[in-house]
Amino acid sequence: MAKEITAQQEDYSQWYLDIVKKANLAANSKVRGCMVIKPYGYAVWEKMRDDLDRRFKETGHQNAYFPLLIPKSFLSKEAEHVEGFAKECAVVTHHRLMNDPDGQGVVVDPDAKLEEELIIRPTSETIIWDTYRDWISSYRDLPLLINQWANVMRWEMRTRFFLRTAEFLWQEGHTAHASQEEAVAEARQMLEVYASFAEEILAMPVYKGEKTAYERFAGAEDTYTIEALMQDGKALQAGTSHFLGQNFAKAFDVKYLNEKNKEEYVWATSWGVSTRLMGALIMTHSDDEGLVLPPRIAPTQVVIIPIPKPNEEIDAVVAKIMEELKALGISVKYDNDRKRRPGFKFAEHEMHGIPVRLALGKRDLANGQIEVARRDTKEKMSYPLEGLAENIKNLLEEIQSNLFNQAKARLDQGTHIVNNWEEFVDVIENKGGFAYAYWDGTTETELKIKELTGATSRCIPLETPTGAEEVAEPKCVLTGAPAKARVLFAKAY
Ligand code: AMP
Repeated sequence: MAKEITAQQEDYSQWYLDIVKKANLAANSKVRGCMVIKPYGYAVWEKMRDDLDRRFKETGHQNAYFPLLIPKSFLSKEAEHVEGFAKECAVVTHHRLMNDPDGQGVVVDPDAKLEEELIIRPTSETIIWDTYRDWISSYRDLPLLINQWANVMRWEMRTRFFLRTAEFLWQEGHTAHASQEEAVAEARQMLEVYASFAEEILAMPVYKGEKTAYERFAGAEDTYTIEALMQDGKALQAGTSHFLGQNFAKAFDVKYLNEKNKEEYVWATSWGVSTRLMGALIMTHSDDEGLVLPPRIAPTQVVIIPIPKPNEEIDAVVAKIMEELKALGISVKYDNDRKRRPGFKFAEHEMHGIPVRLALGKRDLANGQIEVARRDTKEKMSYPLEGLAENIKNLLEEIQSNLFNQAKARLDQGTHIVNNWEEFVDVIENKGGFAYAYWDGTTETELKIKELTGATSRCIPLETPTGAEEVAEPKCVLTGAPAKARVLFAKAY
């Protein structure tokens, strides 16, 4: 396979598109903003899903499924929620087509108009809280800890594979609690779950933080977020967890009898990550040769290639290696296709980001060795066949931490502590990355900053970024008014 992708330096957006296509992750569909997730892309998503699902279950959640279609009236029950989502809603108005009386094709049958129009879920708070009314009556029913894996639809105007699509796959957790403290603790706990998943599995370091009021989820009292930094210096919101207060309980009349037999409204959270994580993964590690996958998320961790072709002797040694690798829980594939040459296979597996490639030929066999190539550093080494599986296991762990460390160094270097407006503009316009700056707490200032520089407030980090010292009587970086918070600003996807 020839080098067919645009270099990152040349055009990062085009590079991203090339990776998505050449690594067989996804393809466009006929409907703008919707995509086909191809088997290899889906295999990576499945690994994400399985690991997250395990973490949700370990923290006491159960999966359930709620309908795709929501009565339109539900959406307007929570005022801020409808305000936030109305502009992106796809609406179902009819339930039948008929032959076009004037010609060919089909048209909507005017007699099949729905009595109440339905919306395709952009998120499921409304339908779930309408259901919870029937599920919750006493403190014994709480907490209710539910997650659903589903697709949702938000009619996005500017779309990009995985990062922002009109239909996307995600999980949405929806929990109900007896007290505010419990609900806040749940929202914070799920933020931690997302952050450790991102760091341990995707090798993607993140800032955990709180959104400003303007950037909050529509209907939330507090939105927590994990924010990552992509290779081109833009930030990406990679997951969110919301404390919803009693807003949805009040809108859908969900009350419970407490231990003193007094009726109270229930407290809520919701939290979600989506196929956007696929985009985050690509833009954190990949290079001009293609996708780079951290071993813990790679559907195939090791590929073995016979040099130049398979034969009985090589097949037998490979079978033994595979058995040993599998016994250690390592996923391995033997590429014994006779029709394609080693060079072609090397490039293809590089494109797919397989973390370790083993190549075995006659000379290696004679020496009791095997050639080992790392996808992350592109280093090539010789390992003895004796004790190979154990060494590969260690190598995979080293690759995982190397990828994390590289990304962490980029995040640290890409976080700039700024003290005045000139520095702020320099970071946003020239350096890229995060500008950590004092802000006066007003939406007006946030909007002005966006208008002047294109940067948005990403979050108020829960932990102070390294190197940032407290300033006595801090002032807003734009207005000079007394500061209310210190915020990470950046241009973002
Ligand atoms: P939200 O419900 O808006 O808090 O979003 C939940 C998660 O889905 C967040 O991680 C978002 O970054 C992600 N997300 C929001 N909109 C899209 C979209 N159009 N495509 C893919 N992911 C999205």
